Amino acid sequence: MSVLPVYLYGSTILRKKLPPVKEIDDTLIKLIIDMFETMRVANGIGLAANQVGRTERVLVVDVSEIEELKEIAPFALINPEVIEREGGCSMEEGCLSIPDVRDEVERAEFIKVRYRDVNFEECELEAGGLLARVIMHEIDHLDGVLFLDHLTKDKLADHKMELKEIKRGNIETDYPVVPSAEANKK
Ligand code: ZN
Repeated sequence: MSVLPVYLYGSTILRKKLPPVKEIDDTLIKLIIDMFETMRVANGIGLAANQVGRTERVLVVDVSEIEELKEIAPFALINPEVIEREGGCSMEEGCLSIPDVRDEVERAEFIKVRYRDVNFEECELEAGGLLARVIMHEIDHLDGVLFLDHLTKDKLADHKMELKEIKRGNIETDYPVVPSAEANKK
């Protein structure tokens, strides 16, 4: 099990739409295990593969530290897609790839998601509130979309300086990261 460095804002891989996984193999299982470990160390509640520099269409969720969601064990979603959405609500979001930047994002309130589990079996999940939000945020990542893309131009402008510093790698985190300049050389 290893902690993978998180690719920071400005890394081109965060703008990549990841292709579906065709089958489960040991490499994918190892990736999922490492993503769980990375998310735990970084105190995140969700993580998408391109955030750790990988191109498998997979994300992990761990909401077990949140009191009202503690019954939900950490799980992985392979090839997830939102097949139904309902309602709308606004909630503050942050992102491990964009440290210290937070803002309100408007998203659906309830969703139904279809995905494959770690046995590659097709599953459906209905989610609301924070769980729905995490899943939508992470599926966005798999499509190369960041929560910043949902902000108005004015709101985005509020974060301009912080974003510039993150792009330069002038940011302190308590988890390992890959600044974009380094990421984009690979
Ligand atoms: Zn994120």
